[in-house]
This record gives sequence, C-alpha cells and structure tokens, in this order.
Amino acid sequence: DSKNFDAETKSICPFCGVGCQVSLKSKDGKIVKVDGINGPANEGRLCVKGRFGFDYIHHPHRLTKPLIRRDDAPAKGLNVDPGNYGEVFREATWDEALDAAAKGLKGRGRQVAGFGSAKCSNEEAYLFQKFIRQGFGHNNVDHCTRLCHASSVAALIENVGSGAVTATFNEIENADVAIVIGANPVENHPVAATFFKQFAKRGGKLIVLDPRGQALKRHSSHMLQFRPGADVALLNSIMHVIAEEGLVDRQYIEAMTENWDAEREHLKGFAPEKMADLTGIDAATIRDVARTFAGAKSAMIFWGMGVSQHIHGTDNSRCLISLALMTGQIGRPGAGLHPLRGQNNVQGASDAGLIPMFLPDYASVLKDDVRQKYAALWGDQGGFDGKIEAEKGLTVTEILDAVHAGDIKAMYVLGENPAMSDPDVDHARAALAALDCLVVQDIFLTETANYADVILPAAAFAEKTGTVTNTNRQVQMGRPAVTPPGDAREDWAITVDLAKRCGLDWTYAHPREVFAEMKQVMASLDNITWDRLEREDAVTYPSLSPTDPGQAIVFGDGFPRPEGRAKFTPANVIAPDEVPDADYPMILTTGRQLEHWHTGSMTRRSKVLDAVEPEANCSMHPGTLRKLGVAPGGWVRLSTRRGTVTLMARADRAVAPDMVFLPFAFVEAAANLLTNPALDPVGKIPEFKFAAVKVEAA
Ligand code: SF4
Repeated sequence: DSKNFDAETKSICPFCGVGCQVSLKSKDGKIVKVDGINGPANEGRLCVKGRFGFDYIHHPHRLTKPLIRRDDAPAKGLNVDPGNYGEVFREATWDEALDAAAKGLKGRGRQVAGFGSAKCSNEEAYLFQKFIRQGFGHNNVDHCTRLCHASSVAALIENVGSGAVTATFNEIENADVAIVIGANPVENHPVAATFFKQFAKRGGKLIVLDPRGQALKRHSSHMLQFRPGADVALLNSIMHVIAEEGLVDRQYIEAMTENWDAEREHLKGFAPEKMADLTGIDAATIRDVARTFAGAKSAMIFWGMGVSQHIHGTDNSRCLISLALMTGQIGRPGAGLHPLRGQNNVQGASDAGLIPMFLPDYASVLKDDVRQKYAALWGDQGGFDGKIEAEKGLTVTEILDAVHAGDIKAMYVLGENPAMSDPDVDHARAALAALDCLVVQDIFLTETANYADVILPAAAFAEKTGTVTNTNRQVQMGRPAVTPPGDAREDWAITVDLAKRCGLDWTYAHPREVFAEMKQVMASLDNITWDRLEREDAVTYPSLSPTDPGQAIVFGDGFPRPEGRAKFTPANVIAPDEVPDADYPMILTTGRQLEHWHTGSMTRRSKVLDAVEPEANCSMHPGTLRKLGVAPGGWVRLSTRRGTVTLMARADRAVAPDMVFLPFAFVEAAANLLTNPALDPVGKIPEFKFAAVKVEAA
C-alpha cells in the first residue's frame, strides 16, 4: 500500500449514522483507498459503502463553478443533464452567484425557508439555522430528520427528556437480550450489525421484530414477521404479558417514572390472544418474547425507520420507551434505548438546532428566556432586530405546502434533495418549480438543482474540516484529504459569504470559531473543545471532565424531566392512513439497499457500488410473482393513487405475499412518486412504510 498513496488523513465515513472512522489514502490530489481505523464505534471495521463508496468525489459530474439559470432557459422541470447543463445554466463567478442568491433571498422575511443537511458538519448545520433565524427572523428551517427519526425524537423528548440514545450500540456487548424492531442493520447500519451478530454468537438473545425478513434472522432467538403497521398492537401485547404476569421492575417504576397506573390500565385491553389477528403473531410466541425480554439482566432496544415512518411513528416509540421503563432497562451497562440514526450527522444537525421547533440543544423556540439568550448572543444586525419569532417554524413537507399556497417564495437548499426525498415528489417538484428564487448548494447537479435559479458548488466530506456526531452521541473530527474541484468551496464558507450579502455581520474565518460559539449555548458540548477533538478524534457527549472520553450510558440516576422521572405515555392502535382495497390490494413499503445511499446522488456515481447494484428494482414473494406471471428479474408496474413506476422485480421470500419492497435510490423508478404523504401528527413524519399499491406485469 505504501507505494500506492502519498498521504493518509483520518476522517469519518460520510454515509450512515454509525460514524466509522476512516483513513483516507490519497495520491496526486485524489483519494485512492479507504481503510477502517480504530474509532469508538467501528473498532477498525467498515462496510462496503465506507470501503468503496469514495470515488464519487472525483466524478466528472462534480460541480466546479457557480451556476446561474439562463434568462432563455426552458421552463423549470426535471430536464437537466448533469454532464451537459449549458442550455439551462451559465457558469458564473462567486461574486455574481452570491449576489444573485442574496438578491433572491434578502428582505423577504417569512417568504424564505431553508432546508439544511444532515450530511454537513455540526458547524455548518449551526450556521445554516442561524442564517435563517437571524437573517429572516423566523423558524422555517428544517432538514431530513423530518423524514427519518422525527417521531422517535418527539417521543424521547416527551418521555425521557432527551432525543439522543441512552446507550451506545456497542453497549450490546454488556447485554443478554436485545430487541431490533423496524430496522435492517445488516443493510442500513452494517458495522453496528457486526456487533449484533457477535452478541448473538456469544449467546445473547436477539429478538427481531419486522414485517420483512432480513439477514439478522439467522442470528436471532426470535423472529416475528408481524403484519405491517401493527407495531403498537404487538408492543402493547408484549407489555400486557409483562404487566399481567408481574414481570415488571416495581422498584424502578416507583423510583424513576410517572404515569404507570394509566399505562397498566391501558395495557389490560391488549391480551395477545386478542391481538393475534391484527399482528399475525400467535399468543404463545408473544408471551415467550415478553418473558424473554422481562427476564433479561440487561436488555437493549434498537429501532429504525420501520418504527418511525408511520402516522403512528411517535406512538411506536412511546411503546418502546414504556417497554424499557417497565422493566427498568435504561441507565445501566447493556441496557438502553437506541434509535439507529440514518445520516452520518443527523444527530449533530438536530443537536445544532436545524429543526423548526428547537434552537440548539433542543431549546424550545416557544420559551422567552431561550429566545432572549439568542437575541443577546446574536445581536441586532443588518436591519434585523435580533429577535426570533415565538412560533414553531414549518417542517420540510409543510414548507412545500406553503410554496403551493403562495406563502413561501424563496428557498435556500443545502445538500438536500426534496425532488427525490419528499413523500410526494410530483407535489415537491411542482413547488420547487413555482419558487421565485431557489438557491441550491450541493456537490452535484441533483434532481432538486434542476429547478434552481442559482447553484453554489460545495465541497465533499473528504475536502473539508468539521465535526460530526454519530448515532452514539460521539462528536468526531472530519478532516480534508484533498482539495475541492475547480471553484467549489466548503459549505460553511459559502453560507458565511451569503449571510454577509444578506446583511449579517458574520466574521467567521474557520469552523473552530463556529464550534466555540456553539459551546456558549450547548451544554451538551461541555468539556469538548475543538483542540481536544483534533487530539482525540472523538469524544462522546456528555463528557464530565476535560479528560472524560464521555458517557456511553446516560440516565442511570434520573432523567432530564420534572423530578428526574421518565414518563409512560399509553398508545392506542390506529390504522394506517391508506389501507389496501380492491383497486390497490397490496402493501408498499420502502427502504434502503446495502450498496446505495438515499437519493443515489453519491453511490450511483461510485463505480463499485453502482456495478454491484446498477438497476432500479423491487422485491416480492416468489408466489406473488408466479401469480402475476412474471419471472424473477422480469418487469412489473407499481401504481398507487399518486403515481406509477415500472422496474425489475426480484423474488424474495423475506417479503410477505401481499407486500412489495421498493428501494428509494433510483430516480428512474422513484419510490416517492408512490408513497403516501400522510403525516404523523406529532413528529410530522410521512408514512413512507405503508401505502396501498397495485402490481401488474409490465
Ligand atoms: Fe460508513 Fe455506516 Fe458503513 Fe460505517 S457502517 S462504513 S459509517 S456506511
């Protein structure tokens, strides 16, 4: 290897929330190899994306110049070739492009909204939300957590007082039982999955609850393929057994919780025998799972989008929290709640306040003292009075509705791709086309950038400096190994220049200055300094002293809630928003595949990953394909009330006979043309995991 590269740089994998530390090997200004190093989450391991998904950085489609839409460009639409955009966009200088962007945004107050990114650093997320709040005086700023774990965070804040995990996933090493529900870690959090497999190998009982089969099944003690959407019924029936059989931890409930009596009363109606039809799981199995979990010395609960992306996503998480509380499985080694975070920095971007209802560290925008603190810190600038509106801002999906309603007329989108990721992409694309001004900052000319008026070329992860926070609450240092192509610049620097042009007196010259400002308002960063991160690479928050590597487990001695008590919030069963009927008789569910990341803009431009998984596909039970008269690998047409896609079908026994699984990385068969935009009323997350669909041979 030493002959094949001339520099090595430590950084963080840009894909999932596991946050694997990597060594970027570079030669002649290019990354040539990536190896795993000994980070606290990955212990030297990497998955196929981390190992091979780096060459998109050097793809010829990288944006190298600022672009401005031509006056004579065709009407806005999904009609731009990212390799040949000259008819639609002209290249511009930074001054021209930033002036054009500022002209479209400045002075528009509530007509402006911002979509930030969970792929940017903590400092960039902080600056982005500050730009919208300080620059325009309101809270219409959000990012993709809304499509991810917003419902989990809502339930965690409500019931344990904090949205982050209570224990790192590595704590499974100290557990004897673990539940994995609505998550497929082998594909979505592959390095975390290696720890789960080791846990099972040494005798740990792994209980997998998921409507779709998965690779962890062969490592599990129990695999319950319950009916899609029946999560609350299943979890309440498990808790019913624990309560009915006296398997609860009474001491813990009395000392550490509130509202148990209401929860216990509520659970009486969920006998597993009564829930069997709804869940598709027989009562004896539910009783066995309940006894296994309640009998654990130490147990952890992991969950993913299968739990969160429902109109009852918040209720699903409330049930998981209640299950942990009633058995006292929080705050000890090997015990805790762990929503597996999706994007590499979705935890950090949320902590940094890139959400419409919270300022950094989840301080509510509705609290006078919170807003006053920020008014004092940020001050009066550029004609703005430094005051932040005492009103929650709009979420990502609500912002696009507000565009259609004519209330939002200009947007600044950094590293997000709503033209692919919104739950109703036709609706999203029409909204983007209707804007007076759309400024898109990204590394590629994404589907969303097709609709832009100004495009600002940004640096990729391996070209910039900044901290990111993984699913384990580990704040880690990302470092540049190569320089950005052409005129592309780091996101934080672009946002600073745009803010200045919009009248803000920003003087940041390095992300370390932004981090220092964040520390003034974020107690979560106490004892974590930029210098320390440069030295140590990672520190887990909370860190109790300048030498404490951070707390892997929290809430052993109380919760950040009134009287230090966590809360039980009972949850009722509600039906999915759109149930199958004669016209749309099957159930559509969506998700990721191992090799591809979200809207595919990076991984489909990575040679190895694209070679392994080059084609849009869906999966169905072989019996379902037989009935359709389609051979495995043949073509099918999927239709919902919102749209139709045609693509290749795989046979997969893990998918129930009345279901279709559709990955969402492929623009040529975009899953979100089909998905249901109905929202969870609390977390405002769309029901990506359940829609009624018709399947035909194509
Ligand atoms: Fe990257 Fe996640 Fe794979 Fe680790 S598990 S290498 S963070 S994609």
